Amino acid sequence: MLKLYDTYKKKLVPFKPIKKGKVGMYNCGPTVYNYVTIGNLRAYTFNDFLRRSLEYLGYEVTQVVNITDVGHVTMTDEQKKEVKKSGEKLEITDVDDGVDRMEKAARREGVSVLEIARKYIDAIFGKNYEKVKEFEQDGDFGKMNMLKPTHLPRATEYIDEQIDFIKRLEKKGYTYVTKQAVYFDIQKFKRYEKIVEQKFEDMVSGERSHSKDPDRKHPSDFRLWQLNQPDHALQWDSPWGKGYPGWHIECSAMSHKLLGQPFDIHTGGEDFIKLHHANEIAQSECAYAKPLANYWLHNAFLTVDGGRMGKSLGNAYTLQDVISKGFDPMDLRYFYLQAHYRSKQNFTWECLKDAANARDHLIKDLKTMMGEAQGKRIVSVQWKKKFMSGLEKDLNTCEALTATWELLRSDEEAKVIVGTILDFDQVLGLRLDKVKVTDVKMETESRKEVEKLIKQREKARQSKDWTAADKIRDELLKKYRVKVEDTVEGQKWGIDE
Ligand code: AMP
Ligand code: ZN
Repeated sequence: MLKLYDTYKKKLVPFKPIKKGKVGMYNCGPTVYNYVTIGNLRAYTFNDFLRRSLEYLGYEVTQVVNITDVGHVTMTDEQKKEVKKSGEKLEITDVDDGVDRMEKAARREGVSVLEIARKYIDAIFGKNYEKVKEFEQDGDFGKMNMLKPTHLPRATEYIDEQIDFIKRLEKKGYTYVTKQAVYFDIQKFKRYEKIVEQKFEDMVSGERSHSKDPDRKHPSDFRLWQLNQPDHALQWDSPWGKGYPGWHIECSAMSHKLLGQPFDIHTGGEDFIKLHHANEIAQSECAYAKPLANYWLHNAFLTVDGGRMGKSLGNAYTLQDVISKGFDPMDLRYFYLQAHYRSKQNFTWECLKDAANARDHLIKDLKTMMGEAQGKRIVSVQWKKKFMSGLEKDLNTCEALTATWELLRSDEEAKVIVGTILDFDQVLGLRLDKVKVTDVKMETESRKEVEKLIKQREKARQSKDWTAADKIRDELLKKYRVKVEDTVEGQKWGIDE
């Protein structure tokens, strides 16, 4: 039975979907103001892995990933300076009265907000993403071999739904209006204290306190609709005046429309637990008097070289950086699989190289097995069970990988090994089905050739013909990238990395 760790319940809970055999899942997606980083990609790969695991376990999944193209506001440079001066350390720079990330990017690049959205949507999802069934290789999601979500709604396409949602909250008395915005009155939702694990009277510091509206009643009141910002590029009419939606409301409105309420699983990075998701819960529960989602899953952050990742630190690597260094996106995918999603994972180029070597090794061994299997494939129910038992423990990808390696090294018949590992790849998503049998012959043949040369060299060594032994050693290195070492136990050889 599948067990998932629910962040707010703080424990592993057996998964029971609302409708038998079906899962509705909402994953908070990217704000399309820049290329996504390998930190963001950790979150999105986790979502993809979750989707694939659920499908492998037999569920039919409706997956929604939203595209934020308006309303995600961050601190202005002046606000950041002020915070620095105050000596306070802010991990999150999301505030309500800063600058819209999309607008900031448009200014930075000297183009319109719509052009910014187009550029980064293309980079993340691919140019044709709306028309194709599967992601193509021209976007990060496709390169990472992610399955295409059922819905990829853009916030700007759901303005009416967001306005209706706010109207509903207003009718129930959960909002108030100032010159700057329509606010959610957080103290009317008592459970908020439990969710963010803080009393209302203590919520005065941190990112919440850096929004400056003299008429705001409480530092945790957040903006549902922004008003009186004539310079903002995107504006819509609303019952409260021209403006644009706040960030949190889009997820509540779009999930309600596309999945209903409650739906099964909601995910995001751990930075969302006490802010974005707490606010989503507040809005949705108050609007509909029902929970928003039944299971809340959050991935831990990726650090780089042991520390925070950041644009200003020069280590906010993108997938393009990874590719430019000669890695395959599947190396990064393999790297993510090596850590449980709730554990912090540290990225270094060295670790990525280790992951790439392990993946190389996996493919080589699989090719050898494919050669032996001669096109035959059988899926072992027993090994499948073992693999699934890892997934069922709160999606333990490390265990799933271990099972894969154990099977590869087991003395099962080649057709069982090949058939079952290709079956596992529906979850791993490492494109193992692309391993070509035509390469296999070459591979087996060169392996045979290498073994022959090693034997010849052994003979040369025994007859103390050092010139011949050295010649063979050079040939092995040049022709096959095989490095030989003479040890007390005899010759040892391996691929020279
Ligand atoms: P953002 O575009 O900043 O809203 O982030 C998009 C998603 O990526 C969110 O779910 C974040 O929690 C997640 N995220 C951002 N940075 C990291 C990181 N370093 N490691 C893992 N997830 C991250
Ligand atoms: Zn969200």
